[in-house]
Amino acid sequence: MKITDVRAYSIRISKDNFATPASSSSHGAGESRPPVDDFGDYFIDQSAFTSIYSHHHETTLIRLETDTGVVGWGEAQSPVAPRVTRTIVEELVRPLVINRDPFDIEAIWTRAYGAMRERGHPTGFYVDALGGMDVALWDICGKVTGKPIHKLSGGRYRDRVLLYAGMGGTDPSDVADKAEYHVGHGYKALKLHLLVDRDGVADIAAAVRERVGSGIKLMVDVHMRQTVSSSIELGRRLEGLDFTWLESPIVPDDIPGQAEIARSLDMAVAIGEWSRTRYEMREAFERRAYDIVMHDIGRTGITEGKRIATLADTYNIPVAPHVGGGGILAVAATVEFSASCPNFMIMEHSHDANAMKAAILKEPYDPVDGYFHVTDKPGLGVEVDETKLERFKFPDR
Ligand SMILES: [Mg+2]
Repeated sequence: MKITDVRAYSIRISKDNFATPASSSSHGAGESRPPVDDFGDYFIDQSAFTSIYSHHHETTLIRLETDTGVVGWGEAQSPVAPRVTRTIVEELVRPLVINRDPFDIEAIWTRAYGAMRERGHPTGFYVDALGGMDVALWDICGKVTGKPIHKLSGGRYRDRVLLYAGMGGTDPSDVADKAEYHVGHGYKALKLHLLVDRDGVADIAAAVRERVGSGIKLMVDVHMRQTVSSSIELGRRLEGLDFTWLESPIVPDDIPGQAEIARSLDMAVAIGEWSRTRYEMREAFERRAYDIVMHDIGRTGITEGKRIATLADTYNIPVAPHVGGGGILAVAATVEFSASCPNFMIMEHSHDANAMKAAILKEPYDPVDGYFHVTDKPGLGVEVDETKLERFKFPDR
């Protein structure tokens, strides 16, 4: 068996082609947030050096087909500029995967990773494209063998995957309302995306804890907006509110600073959504800069995601996979990964965005009461509807 066809589709789901207003980021739709520079489709904060976001849901899907007619799908998460990823698939992934046996998954990834490594592309869009290719190969292997991916990638450690729901905002009672709404939908764990200063974070955290009570697990993501000292001070206040983790307190590159924060706090520090390979993780693990690692399967793929999890397990570090702006195929890949991950802790989920992301599927793909239930469906366990997909394809320039 060999791969004979490689295609990539950049998609955009927005209020123009989907009935419900789109939420492309993990902050939730229509959040109040600090002032932004708005470029039409994309926007970025004026007051902080942080991520650019899309007003839409954007991503890139990869479709591989074998000479026997088996089709596999993967997603290279592309929250902005998805045509960049598509071009990489068409120009580089296609020649590297065409005519290969889909069961040579690890060998294909390793060769493809090496193909741009010496030139200084060890992460970013290129590795995202490889991650999407990897998931599509796993989907094919699952369909050929009649097994779900998790049965082929380590086996089933759990029958359901615990989720936390993300939400944001700047007003304490507004965020507490959203927290109560998500608890009402069965979530036992919530994460607050708070793009405000240290005192503002503490005020919102206190309002949410008071509203949801002690039985709900709470986390906060401050999106790199703190310093080492302000992170430690904030963390101590969050410890008093029984928060489970402080996420992304400072910029990615300051590993000594992250280690200082982790060492100073009793609560866990969760980091790592920006890293795509085990090579990027090793120093952080060695220096105990992460208490919890949160790599994103939409960026790593299953194969490298498993390797990162194994390396983390060696250092006794649990895995809380990031999903963020990932689409429904990234969600499904993360569920399959999580089912077969021994040191899995909890998975990120965007409750209100899920139906919009799933608009490309033949059937809905929803969690129940804060869990995705692990199934015996082959491959990814979801099927793309290519007719529905037409509506969301990204316009060519
Ligand atoms: Mg985060």
